[in-house]
Amino acid sequence: MTKRVALTAADRARYEWQMWTPDFGEAGQEKLKGASVLISRCGGLGGPAAYELAAAGVGRLVIAHGGNLTPSDLNRQILMTTDGLGKSRIESACRRLAELNPTIEIVGEAANISADNVERLVGSVDVVVSAAPLFVERFLLNREAVRQGKVMVDAAMYDTTATVTTIIPGQTPCLACLYPEDPPAWRRQFPVFGATSGTAACIAALEAIKAIAGFGKLLAGELLVIDLANLSFRKMKVRRNPACPICGGVKG
Ligand SMILES: [Zn+2]
Repeated sequence: MTKRVALTAADRARYEWQMWTPDFGEAGQEKLKGASVLISRCGGLGGPAAYELAAAGVGRLVIAHGGNLTPSDLNRQILMTTDGLGKSRIESACRRLAELNPTIEIVGEAANISADNVERLVGSVDVVVSAAPLFVERFLLNREAVRQGKVMVDAAMYDTTATVTTIIPGQTPCLACLYPEDPPAWRRQFPVFGATSGTAACIAALEAIKAIAGFGKLLAGELLVIDLANLSFRKMKVRRNPACPICGGVKG
């Protein structure tokens, strides 16, 4: 899916332990290095996902998130630090990611996904990680990723539950097949521990890594439903809606 970029000696040292993963190896690392990933928001979900993707050596990360840091963000938005209160979230996030891995390219977009930027941002990457709390942003990303044929990992959480699925245009159902419209009860503010959003984030990051490197089994056509209060993980098959206005006309 993505181009391979040769590793340096420093890369081999940094990524040595993950390159021992069977079916990944140096070839997988070269694919990560050649790949670019868009992450929609860098809060409780997108932040840890971005951190893991930076740690793993994805060559280029594009992160979109608007607004400034408030005290109530700090229980889960682990790219942020207390000294960043009142300042731009995206600047804090990019700084932390660059401190972790200065060998990759990190592009910060100081705005949330909107109709104005979604085509450009999705067009600038190979894979999309949808980690926004609002359906309007998730639906915009879904529509654009399907249109441009880009793999999209969608992660969401509420309270101690979370869902993750991986959308492969032309092969799997899309987000609009799963949710024909905004769930009316969905709220902008919700109960959350950082450990819950972080769990979903790590699974989403690994889905992106697997999609890029081409190993393991993706959550393609499946919705992982996690209930961390009771520690249940189950996978539900999801079906494509032949009449879906977003992916119904996209041939596999
Ligand atoms: Zn669809």
